[in-house]
Amino acid sequence: MEIFGGLEHTVRETEPLAPHTWLMLGGPARFYAEPTCRDDLAEVVRRARENDVPTRLLGGGSNVLVRDHGYDGVVINLSAPAFSEIRVDGNELYAGAGAKLSHVVATSVREGLAGLEHLVGIPGSVGGALHLNSGSRSTDIGQWTRGATVLTRDGELITRQSNELVFSYRQSSLDELAILDAKFLLEEEDPAELTRRLQKLWIVRRANQPSGERGTCCMFRDPQGVSATELIEQVNLKGTSVGRVTLYDRDPNFLLADPGASSDDVLKLMDLVRERVATTFEIELDAELQIW
Ligand SMILES: Cc1cc2nc3c(=O)[nH]c(=O)nc-3n(C[C@H](O)[C@H](O)[C@H](O)COP(=O)(O)OP(=O)(O)OC[C@H]3O[C@@H](n4cnc5c(N)ncnc54)[C@H](O)[C@@H]3O)c2cc1C
Repeated sequence: MEIFGGLEHTVRETEPLAPHTWLMLGGPARFYAEPTCRDDLAEVVRRARENDVPTRLLGGGSNVLVRDHGYDGVVINLSAPAFSEIRVDGNELYAGAGAKLSHVVATSVREGLAGLEHLVGIPGSVGGALHLNSGSRSTDIGQWTRGATVLTRDGELITRQSNELVFSYRQSSLDELAILDAKFLLEEEDPAELTRRLQKLWIVRRANQPSGERGTCCMFRDPQGVSATELIEQVNLKGTSVGRVTLYDRDPNFLLADPGASSDDVLKLMDLVRERVATTFEIELDAELQIW
């Protein structure tokens, strides 16, 4: 712990990452940091940079697969209260990157602010959602984002205004080391009406995707104009397993990992799906899941 000497309140050594991810798989991180304030975060990042220790941000872990051998670097998580504040001012909602997306959605609906309710049921944090421009078929988080604060790899704090932000399908220009917070501009609507819409959206999601259960993830991005789910359905792989990992029957672009599964099983199953789709349709599926 020499590298992070004096930061023992923030950094732990050899931390298992499986419990921090939605899939609950994979090996440990060499270091795991939970900074309690921006100064703490800046210090962790500075020490890592000066000692050439690779650094990654982990939000809710709902889109990350950690390999079985783990991650030889420092993983930073921003779930401390200093990074998880949610505040509403008129039509604007401010959220720290560590806030749960579900809390942001619930707050916006309660305050009669429309837009983010379409993200109901997407697990994870605001930071992860912004980095990947997470969304539904009808909207994504980027559509409502009006600014964000980021920490660069050089340790510089920058506020990115609306005109500097680019969001596209599951991608955003917010690819600096850490997103710290963001501001959303939403539309006023009757909270009762919004709540009804939220409930309907939630029911539809529950009917189609594994929601609320750990040990799951979405594997592939939709290739242009086609749904990855439909492609996988058409190659008749529904219900296929490798080891203790199985394709989810209601949406085979999701998989379910049973206790005892390994990250290697997930990678093999993804390869199998990718190969079958490529052979049948000559379409290369890109992973949506971030593989560490
Ligand atoms: C059951 C289920 C349903 C899902 N449904 C959807 C869906 O409908 N739509 C959709 O778009 N996605 C969906 N996902 C995928 C996933 O939930 C989203 O991508 C989510 O927004 C990821 O957030 P996270 O905090 O868990 O990110 P993580 O998985 O922790 O991280 C994802 C990426 O973001 C980066 N990151 C995280 N926090 C920060 C930060 N503060 N600063 C910089 N980079 C950061 C990480 O380094 C990593 O590269 C689903 C996943 C599951 C398991």
